[in-house]
Amino acid sequence: MESRILDLLYPPRCPVCDGLRPIGAPRAHVKCREKLTPVGADTCMRCGKPVPEGAAEYCYDCSAKGESSFERGVSVFLYEGEIRESMVRFKFHRREEYAPWYAAELLAAQGTTLRGFGAEAVIPVPVHRRKMRNRGYNQAERIARELAYELELPMYADYLRRNRFTVPQKELSNHERVRNLMRALEPGWQAEWLKRQHKTPRRVILVDDIYTTGSTLEACSSVLKATGVEHVMVATICIGGGYV
Ligand SMILES: [Zn+2]
Ligand SMILES: [Zn+2]
Repeated sequence: MESRILDLLYPPRCPVCDGLRPIGAPRAHVKCREKLTPVGADTCMRCGKPVPEGAAEYCYDCSAKGESSFERGVSVFLYEGEIRESMVRFKFHRREEYAPWYAAELLAAQGTTLRGFGAEAVIPVPVHRRKMRNRGYNQAERIARELAYELELPMYADYLRRNRFTVPQKELSNHERVRNLMRALEPGWQAEWLKRQHKTPRRVILVDDIYTTGSTLEACSSVLKATGVEHVMVATICIGGGYV
């Protein structure tokens, strides 16, 4: 979509090495793309983390946590090495132009599952205004916008709102973290607006850049459910390993 216009304005860069690439070439250098580790076929049925071949249906984290408010998670790459650096540039160094490539990789790897889910809308994980000002954009929204465009679905960037600035809460348990995050989230004006018209989407794809502990996605998903959404699928570009 906008990537074509961006190509004309800025020299296109490879999202993996950040080096220049010819216009019209694949979005990442072939050699660079080969360095990344795809999530593969053996994944946790809940969150999408890779699990050892033939292992249980759920990863260690999901088995420990029990019930979750989203039904299924899909991701593309293991969060390590080059893709990790790519995500850092995307998030903190204004490499907004990587978003179409991330979305294309997400669709190439998980398109069947994402389309089969029958979503009515795509919703990004919100960031606080202050972060948005510093970064210039919400990275999850950039990916969500590209994904929604490809899936021909509406994207509601103001369905969820972050009302408080949360600090990293590594010392908290997963349960406490989710509870804290839920307090920092609220339905945005689009949630209210859709509800008033009796058009609350029943099935939505919730998008973020990275899945680590899953607390943020769990909290967002719970708030979505509270607004009347019935089924949530979580889509991310990178995910941590599930072997722990
Ligand atoms: Zn490259
Ligand atoms: Zn899992």
